[in-house]
Amino acid sequence: MAETRVLLCSDLDRTLLPNGRQEESPQARPLLRRLSRCPQLSLVYVSGRDKSLLLDAIRDYDLPVPDYAIGDVGTTIYQIQDGQWRPWQAWEEEIMPDWAGHRHDDLAAVLQDIDHLTLQEPAKQNTFKLSYYAPPDTDRDALLAAVEARLQRLGVRASLIWSIDEPRHLGLLDVLPRSATKYHAIRFLMQQKGFSERETVFAGDSGNDLPALTSGLQAVLVRNARQDVREEALASVRQKGIVERLYIARGGFLGMNGNYTAGVLEGLAHFVPEARQWIEHGCDQSVSQ
Ligand SMILES: [Mg+2]
Repeated sequence: MAETRVLLCSDLDRTLLPNGRQEESPQARPLLRRLSRCPQLSLVYVSGRDKSLLLDAIRDYDLPVPDYAIGDVGTTIYQIQDGQWRPWQAWEEEIMPDWAGHRHDDLAAVLQDIDHLTLQEPAKQNTFKLSYYAPPDTDRDALLAAVEARLQRLGVRASLIWSIDEPRHLGLLDVLPRSATKYHAIRFLMQQKGFSERETVFAGDSGNDLPALTSGLQAVLVRNARQDVREEALASVRQKGIVERLYIARGGFLGMNGNYTAGVLEGLAHFVPEARQWIEHGCDQSVSQ
C-alpha cells in the first residue's frame, strides 16, 4: 500500500499566525515545526501576502519554510527549494486569459470613480491583482455588483473577494482573475503534483478563505474565526450537502485550544488520522536517514 502523504495548505494571518485577539497555545508552533520535517508532508502557505511579507511572517513567527507558497491571494505560486523562491510560470499562463488582455492599470482606470473604493498601497497591487479599501459597513452586494458590471463590459472574468480587517476597521476588496483564487491555485497544485482529495487539507479563518473552505476540499476553520464567517461557512456546506468536508476546530486536541496553528493541526488529524502520530511524535523514527 502506498504510504500516506499530505498536501497541507494553510492561510497565514490569524490561521497559522497568532496575530488575532485570542490566545495561542504555546505548544502549537513547535509541533508544526517538527511536523514540517516529515517527508510525508508537503506544506503550502496560501496567503494574501506578497513574497516579502511572506518572508517577514516566516521570520517573525518562526514558521517552517514551506514547499510552496500561494501568494497575493492566489495570483502567484512559488516553488521553494534550497531557500530559492521560484514563481511558477505555468500558473501565470493559466490565469492570464481571464482578463482578456487587460492588466492592472487598465482595470484600475475603469473602476476609478466607483464610490467608497480607494486603491491600497502600491505594494499590495500586482499585474493580476487590484486591492481596494472600503468602509467596513459598505453595502457589500451593491458595491460588488457595480464593480462586476464594469468588468463584464470589458469581457473580463474576475473574482471579487470581500473581507474585513477587524483590528484596522477596514473593508478589503480584491479583484483577481477568476481562476486565480486560493481555491483554484490549490487545485492546480494538486493536479500538477498528483495529490488526491483525500491527501489534501486546507485551513483558513476569514472571508477570503470561504470559497476554499466550502469547496468540497477537506477544510478546517480555526476556532478563532469570527462568528459570521463560521455561520456563512456552515450554511454553505449544508446547502451543498458536504458538511463532512468542513471541520471546525473546537480545541482539546493534545491539550491545545484550537486557535490558530493548534486548530490547523487538530483539523489535519481529523481528516488524516495518521497525521496525529506525526504531530505528536514527529517522523524521525520511521525514516531511515
Ligand atoms: Mg487569515
